[in-house]
Amino acid sequence: MGVLADRIRTLIEVGGPISVADFMALALGDPEHGYYASREPFGAAGDFVTAPEISQMFGELIGAWAMAVHAAIGAPDPVRLVELGPGRGTLMADLLRAARVRPAFRAAIDLHLVETSPRLRAVQAETLAASGVTPTWHDRIDTLPPGPAIVIANEFFDALPVRQLVRTPEGWRERVIGLAPDGSLLFGAGAAGIDPDLVPPHAALAPVGTVVEVAGPSAAIMAGLAHRIVRDGGALLAIDYGSDRSGTGDTLQAVSAHRFADALERPGEVDVTVQVDFQALAAAARSEGAAVHGPVGQGDFLLALGLLERAGQLGADKDDTARAALVAAVNRLASPDQMGTLFKAIAVTRPGVAPPGF
Ligand code: SAH
Repeated sequence: MGVLADRIRTLIEVGGPISVADFMALALGDPEHGYYASREPFGAAGDFVTAPEISQMFGELIGAWAMAVHAAIGAPDPVRLVELGPGRGTLMADLLRAARVRPAFRAAIDLHLVETSPRLRAVQAETLAASGVTPTWHDRIDTLPPGPAIVIANEFFDALPVRQLVRTPEGWRERVIGLAPDGSLLFGAGAAGIDPDLVPPHAALAPVGTVVEVAGPSAAIMAGLAHRIVRDGGALLAIDYGSDRSGTGDTLQAVSAHRFADALERPGEVDVTVQVDFQALAAAARSEGAAVHGPVGQGDFLLALGLLERAGQLGADKDDTARAALVAAVNRLASPDQMGTLFKAIAVTRPGVAPPGF
């Protein structure tokens, strides 16, 4: 077993079972042995493929979205262009290249990347070296400078820790991770005494055995960004997999080498994510007075921004093989049986601003 698994076992032996949120934070974010610090998750040789890695069209269309939003909010200069969890930096590189058609927008960009993994920061620096734009990195959103901001987050919120609560015959308990007699990690119900206000109202009447997830950090980050958008102007676009209505159930999912894996078996070595609760994200934004647009399916969003037209342009002077690859990319990004409906887009603006694609 790995170093991180041993460390988690020791933590549990000393301090008792840990929450699912603490487990996710360690498994993904441990600076030395966490998943994003130690692995190369993206692409065919990694564990999963994200939309920007499928096709340059994804980042280009988000570039078109950012340009339209910049115009709609009065073309502020400078404008903070912020990406949360940029991965390899591919989306941003494609966005900045597409933005060359609007020199005034490009010249106004002050680029900020929120990224906790030092390894991925280095990859992002390399990917963006040719763009001519120098980013500033941040660990958290708190250090972003004030001013109008266009914020992009693709597959960011699904990586943030959630607490899980489970309804037992004795009431709601924290769902925790403890040790089996053989030393392996296993789920259980924690001791009594959770704050009853923590149980979301939609789960209040759920039957015994029900698990409900509470995405505290996601809601706090969304509220913080909505607050500054209402105060300083700007817009946020988040794309992720998840549901448009708050529900119940355990959505913790582990993926390794493009297959589902056991979330507890190899912490730090497999990707663990949860489905994003878009209703809760929207509520966090509205609580700050922001307007929320969507969620809409990723397919509809990209088609509205001109996915087919962009594919046609790129394919115009290409051979049949290259055109077939473009068609395959369009299908993966937009078909209902691929990423088209499970993945959703949501935007947050000041009231009165209508971003494209919704
Ligand atoms: N947006 C990219 C990568 C998605 S993976 C893409 O679509 O390909 C999630 C990204 O969020 C990684 O870059 C990861 O290191 C980063 N991340 C995860 N938790 C974070 C946190 N709490 N703060 C900042 N970045 C985080």
